[in-house]
Amino acid sequence: MKSSDLFATARQLIPGGVSSPVRAIKPYPFYTAEASGSHIRTVDGRDLIDCCCAYGPLILGHANPVIRGAIKSQLEKGWLYGTPVPLEPEFARLITSDHPGMDMVRFVSSGSEATMAAIRLARGFTGKPDIVKIEGGFHGAHDGVLVKAGSGATTLGIPDSAGVLADIVAHTRQVPYNDPEALESLLSGNPDMAALILEPVMGNIGPVLPEKNYLQEIRSITKAHDVLLIFDEVITGYRVGIGGAQKYFRVRPDLTTLGKIIGGGLPIGAFGGRREIMEMTAPAGPVYQAGTFSGNSLSLSAGIATVRFLQKNRGIYGDLEKKSAAIKDCIPKDADGSFVSLGSMFKYFFRPTPPRNYQEVKECDTGAFSRFWTCMMDRGIFLPPSQFETNFLSSAHTEDDLERIMAAYASCI
Ligand SMILES: *Cc1c(COP(=O)(O)O)cnc(C)c1O
Repeated sequence: MKSSDLFATARQLIPGGVSSPVRAIKPYPFYTAEASGSHIRTVDGRDLIDCCCAYGPLILGHANPVIRGAIKSQLEKGWLYGTPVPLEPEFARLITSDHPGMDMVRFVSSGSEATMAAIRLARGFTGKPDIVKIEGGFHGAHDGVLVKAGSGATTLGIPDSAGVLADIVAHTRQVPYNDPEALESLLSGNPDMAALILEPVMGNIGPVLPEKNYLQEIRSITKAHDVLLIFDEVITGYRVGIGGAQKYFRVRPDLTTLGKIIGGGLPIGAFGGRREIMEMTAPAGPVYQAGTFSGNSLSLSAGIATVRFLQKNRGIYGDLEKKSAAIKDCIPKDADGSFVSLGSMFKYFFRPTPPRNYQEVKECDTGAFSRFWTCMMDRGIFLPPSQFETNFLSSAHTEDDLERIMAAYASCI
């Protein structure tokens, strides 16, 4: 069946026809038949170079044989037991050794669950009710963080979701990114603040990069006010490098959330941090958190295979950085927009200078973006269908892919 027909059925049965709003491409999304390496094959017979990488997880590309092998050998032994498995301490050891800010970790099934639990834990530990997030930051689709949220919420023009109680949102304050003064003045006027949660690199509207010393400054401001610092590294974890943004920028958060890459393409999330905080989590402590599928052995085996592969092949990060730099170099010099990248995260913004925050990202010419996106698709390059989503490269992108991506950028901008 063709994509258009599948979508006609899907939209009758599934709200908007999709299982997650970012996939709602107009007039209808393409349906994927299969994918391998850097390529997606659609049910309509098209072959596309994938620069979306499932919105981040697929740093080793689609159907990587090493990960497939790990999943297959786990499959033979069963995949859900409702008991602890040896893979849990093994993966916990890997993750905590890589992240300076994580003494302990708890596995969950999605990034949303991880941030929800981390925020509850911050409240439980500090005994304070309020949190602060960054305008345009996206931390999943739960009530307390759907305020000025990035990702699909911004693309669709609903950054503040209906159905979220005003009482709940009243406990979520906002400050602009790259503005330590705004944070200082909010915290000095509000003794009720439990935590600041942010994406250290804003991946869900960007990437928008931290200015020099911004992350260091918010670390000292939060510390001075006894406010926990939560790095939401669901995108940046194992993406900007081993140890994530906290290692890359040398800033130690109190709590960290992970997801995406650490599942090797299967559903996962994790939150971790300082031992005294983490030990507040049930059953060690009074902050409740639980999940039927938490720490399931399939996700863990795929995640462990991915992380071990990255640890053994650290050169991947330098190679990916070179690839995005090459794309930058092919942008016509007289182009009106701005190219931003960090490692394998990159984006061309339709605004003259790189945006510093949510306000500036929203100034982009989204009409120009749409025309550009369609032009790229016509040339067989699949980018996330929004000005407000980061593009990703994987280790599976070949030199040939890169040349085609560069040629397409050069002609579509
Ligand atoms: C994707 C994402 C989430 C949500 O993760 P899910 O697995 O989709 O629930 C949370 N925070 C950030 C920074 C993300 O990019």
